Amino acid sequence: MTFPDLVPSLKARMGELRGRLLANQPLAELTWFRVGGPAQVLFMPEDEADLAYFLSRLGSDIPVTVIGLGSNLIVRDGGVPGAVIRLGRGFSEIKVEEGNRIRVGAAVPDVKVARAAQEAGLAGLAFYRGIPGAIGGALRMNGGAYGGETKDVLIEARGVDRRGDVKVYRNADMHYRYRHCGVADEVIFTQALFQGREGDPAAIAAEMDKITESRESTQPVKSRTGGSTFKNPPGHKAWQLIDAAGCRGLVVGDAQVSELHCNFLINRGNATAGDIETLGETVRARVKQSSGVELEWEIKRIGLSD
Ligand SMILES: Cc1cc2nc3c(=O)[nH]c(=O)nc-3n(C[C@H](O)[C@H](O)[C@H](O)COP(=O)(O)OP(=O)(O)OC[C@H]3O[C@@H](n4cnc5c(N)ncnc54)[C@H](O)[C@@H]3O)c2cc1C
Repeated sequence: MTFPDLVPSLKARMGELRGRLLANQPLAELTWFRVGGPAQVLFMPEDEADLAYFLSRLGSDIPVTVIGLGSNLIVRDGGVPGAVIRLGRGFSEIKVEEGNRIRVGAAVPDVKVARAAQEAGLAGLAFYRGIPGAIGGALRMNGGAYGGETKDVLIEARGVDRRGDVKVYRNADMHYRYRHCGVADEVIFTQALFQGREGDPAAIAAEMDKITESRESTQPVKSRTGGSTFKNPPGHKAWQLIDAAGCRGLVVGDAQVSELHCNFLINRGNATAGDIETLGETVRARVKQSSGVELEWEIKRIGLSD
């Protein structure tokens, strides 16, 4: 699959652009599942101002999709039309501030935030040790684990909208629910300010070690996966419904429901995005049939089917 090359026309329209623009750039390697087609254009902005400039000059007819570390993502096999944006170095600051606060760029991996907070003696952010995404994804997904959630620690986030306007979103503006953020999908988060509380670095380190240990024994963290596939429906655990529907170990093509944690799908090596999505839909249908519950995808799916 190859898209028409938009790069020359974008460059002509954006003389002051500083970030990198690449046509037909493969995305599979930028996701945990390692599947899917290319981005029509991949844009890696230098910093927030560059991102804002790009969006303000981009015609409204060109769709925009932002990706983080691709740990909650299926890129479909037909690729993603329009511009895919990935934040990099210019969004990687980590700054401990007065009042037990920490300010981090949206490209900082959650794990690094947990570590920086631990080193500074800030408790309350250790749960990020268990989430393999970056902060932009955590802000969008209300990422959480082990009793902590982004909504519990966020003071405010900065974001750029589709017109290129930068805005600050207070915690209440995010309209957080379980694995859901109510800010318009078009907004690209660039930075977060978190509130920690005073803690003992050694105790926080021990908490993080426990999280690592527990993860490795209960989840296929070394596999090509997207984490929890479906949200836990109210009053249920998705994995229990999937297990009860007989889906543990189920296979479509080279995609499989994990034997270790059956709310995880894995690419055994040569799965396509189509295999993984079909497997997910098969699980949903079987769970609906066996329990009457309709599972909702937690994993985001982007792009065109082949
Ligand atoms: C082994 C494994 C374990 C996991 N465990 C957990 C867990 O315990 N708890 C949990 O919550 N999640 C978990 N996940 C899922 C995933 O890590 C989180 O959802 C994470 O927050 C996604 O971040 P990301 O950078 O990988 O985002 P991506 O997967 O790249 O994107 C996810 C969504 O966020 C959006 N997005 C990304 N960056 C931005 C940005 N800068 N601005 C606006 N939107 C953006 C994307 O458009 C997409 O809709 C797990 C995943 C794996 C593979």
